[in-house]
Amino acid sequence: MSASGRSLGGCASCGGRCCREYTVNVTMADVRRLAAGMALHPREFVTLREKDDGDFRFRREGPMYDLRLRHRPDTEGCVFLMEIAPGHARCGAYVHRPMVCATFPAALTRNTVSMRDDTLCGDSNAWNLTLMDLPGLRSDILRNRAAWSEHLRTADRWNALVDASHHSRTHDDLYAFILSSDP
Ligand code: SF4
Ligand code: SF4
Repeated sequence: MSASGRSLGGCASCGGRCCREYTVNVTMADVRRLAAGMALHPREFVTLREKDDGDFRFRREGPMYDLRLRHRPDTEGCVFLMEIAPGHARCGAYVHRPMVCATFPAALTRNTVSMRDDTLCGDSNAWNLTLMDLPGLRSDILRNRAAWSEHLRTADRWNALVDASHHSRTHDDLYAFILSSDP
C-alpha cells in the first residue's frame, strides 16, 4: 500500500503483500476520489460484504454490509494492483488510492508518527523514518480520521432512508447515493 522510505528490502521487493492479503475498507470519500480519478463506476472497484459490524443495510432490520476494495479472482490482488514482473507489483491508482493505503503502515500516537510492527511488512525498524515525509503522513492520517467520521455520519443518513422505506435498496442505489453525497 505504501511505497517509500523503507530502507531494507522494502515495498519494491515485497511484491505487495498488503495489497493481496488485507481487506481494505474504504470511506465514501475514497470511493468518490477513485471513481473520479480512475473514471470507473464504484461497482468496478468496490464490493459489499455482509458483516455484523458493517456500516450499511439495504432493507429495514436487514443485515449490515461493509464496503471494501475488490480483489481479482486470478491474482487475488487488489483490483488496482498492477503486476509488473514475478514478485513485483505496484499500485495502479497511486495518486487516487484510498487514504488507508497512502498512510499504511504508519500510526499516529500522541501526535507522533511511527511505523506499526503488527503488519505484513514485518520489522518496523526496517522503515527509515528520516527519509519519510512525517508531517505529510500525520496530516494524511488526520484527514483519514475526518473522512471516517464523515463516512459514518453519511452511512447513518443512508440507513435512516432505508429504515423509512418499505422497499429494499440495491448496491447500485448505494453507489449512486455515495457519488451524490457531498459533505
Ligand atoms: S489501492 Fe493500490 S495501494 Fe491500495 S490495496 Fe489497492 S493496489 Fe494496494
Ligand atoms: S506489505 Fe509493507 S512492505 Fe510490503 S508492499 Fe505493503 S507496505 Fe510495502
